[in-house]
Amino acid sequence: MHVAQLDQHTSPGSVVNYPYDDHNEQSPQEECGVFGVWAPGEEVAKLTYFGLFALQHRGQEAAGIAVGDGEQILVFKDLGLVSQVFDEPILESLQGDIAIGHTRYTTAGGNSWENAQPMFRMAPDGTDVALGHNGNLINHVQLREKATELGLVDPQQKPSDTDVLTALLANGIGDGDDLFESARKLLPEVRGAYCLTFTDGHTLYAARDPYGIRPLSIGRLARGWVVASETSALDIVGASLVREVEPGELIAIDESGLRSTRFAETNRKACVFEYVYLARPDSVIKGRNVNEVRLEIGRTLAREAPAEGDLVIPTPDSGTPAAVGFAQASGIPFGQGMVKNAYVGRTFIQPSDTLRQLGIRLKLNPLREVIAGKRLVVVDDSIVRGNTQRAVIRMLREAGAAEVHVRIASPPVKWPCFYGIDFATPGELIANAVTSDNEEEMVEAVRSAIGADSLGYVSIDGMVASTTKPVEELCLACFNGHYPMGLPEANPNAELVFKMQAGRQDKIGT
Ligand code: SF4
Repeated sequence: MHVAQLDQHTSPGSVVNYPYDDHNEQSPQEECGVFGVWAPGEEVAKLTYFGLFALQHRGQEAAGIAVGDGEQILVFKDLGLVSQVFDEPILESLQGDIAIGHTRYTTAGGNSWENAQPMFRMAPDGTDVALGHNGNLINHVQLREKATELGLVDPQQKPSDTDVLTALLANGIGDGDDLFESARKLLPEVRGAYCLTFTDGHTLYAARDPYGIRPLSIGRLARGWVVASETSALDIVGASLVREVEPGELIAIDESGLRSTRFAETNRKACVFEYVYLARPDSVIKGRNVNEVRLEIGRTLAREAPAEGDLVIPTPDSGTPAAVGFAQASGIPFGQGMVKNAYVGRTFIQPSDTLRQLGIRLKLNPLREVIAGKRLVVVDDSIVRGNTQRAVIRMLREAGAAEVHVRIASPPVKWPCFYGIDFATPGELIANAVTSDNEEEMVEAVRSAIGADSLGYVSIDGMVASTTKPVEELCLACFNGHYPMGLPEANPNAELVFKMQAGRQDKIGT
């Protein structure tokens, strides 16, 4: 993989100016977390609360729990973190045998109470239905038209893809079909990335799209079952991992045990970014521990993009496993050069103007005693817009670092994600700041823009090999522009991607 080195005559950051703005800069935003539990006799709302705690990193804008007691479903949801939305009296009021929960980050629809999940709809026969969704649908326009024709939604209200899905599922109940049959008939029409947990108050259901883009696992309690986006949420409630919900599989759990049906053939294309950044390091995806993958990516990065340095430090926390791997393979000592103010990025209070000028210092503080006079190798999980890296490098230099060599544990992000992750528009991605197709020129431009002494990325092949998964079973679209499920309807970024793809085709053809 190419490594760009600082030209001693070039002042850092002289090519492109990317001022740090903490409203403009963000890591790739996680999508959502879903959780479901069937456990009569247990405090299912509290189990869900703690499950959602383990999934908080997947969405921090809203949280909700729906509880069913066999007769009706009660939903409580609001904007905010799990700990802000729920307290003991609220959880005490949510009594039942079955619960589903959701943590939300907005990837489609606005961040409003109406769009918080679980969604609730009532079927024509009076059956309550609640649903939580992780992912993004790409044929939401078609589904909305169908729901509109059936009189289930008002398009003027701009219903979210999840609301439309819930309305269609509820509407399919009747004429001898229960929610399981309704889902089995509807899901083959639904295109896009989805992991669903849903319930009619009596049975817990879960389904995963045929590509298995997002993870979803089944766990066993002593007296019940759990379904969760990540295995770390099974661990926190004391459930043992049984298996994943297979791509294209619909399951139902109640007093008869676990039933399963296939509504589509599996065509596995798991999101590689779950391994790189999104999932918790203590989670296991398709039998592979996420922390192990990140360590291995770090080792691979050290081989592919070696650096001369005195100390390897991570950008905490997401860069830490890869930095440890880099240190192991390079022989350069590992150290903590920055301390993360872990919760400030998750507050809903806007900083004052004076505080805002501190920029990255609100989130990260350098350890001067550790880094002064050192040649640092700074390992981060990804570069999206580049603003954070630029601010971090400036901060490290001000704290006395002699040199700052940046190594990135994922390839350059050049394409937006339409399957549930919010990166940025194609024009905002720093890897697209240079129009040249020459990889070395692109890396050099990014290096210069962020002000590093050198910059190196792990290769796509190196990243894929670190997962130990076959490349044909992974989605790599944000790195290579090959979208396994195609592009969404009526989406301005998809139009841009069409143009980018057409431009590349033209160049290949000439
Ligand atoms: S485009 Fe990237 S982030 Fe989105 S599903 Fe594919 S690999 Fe994951």
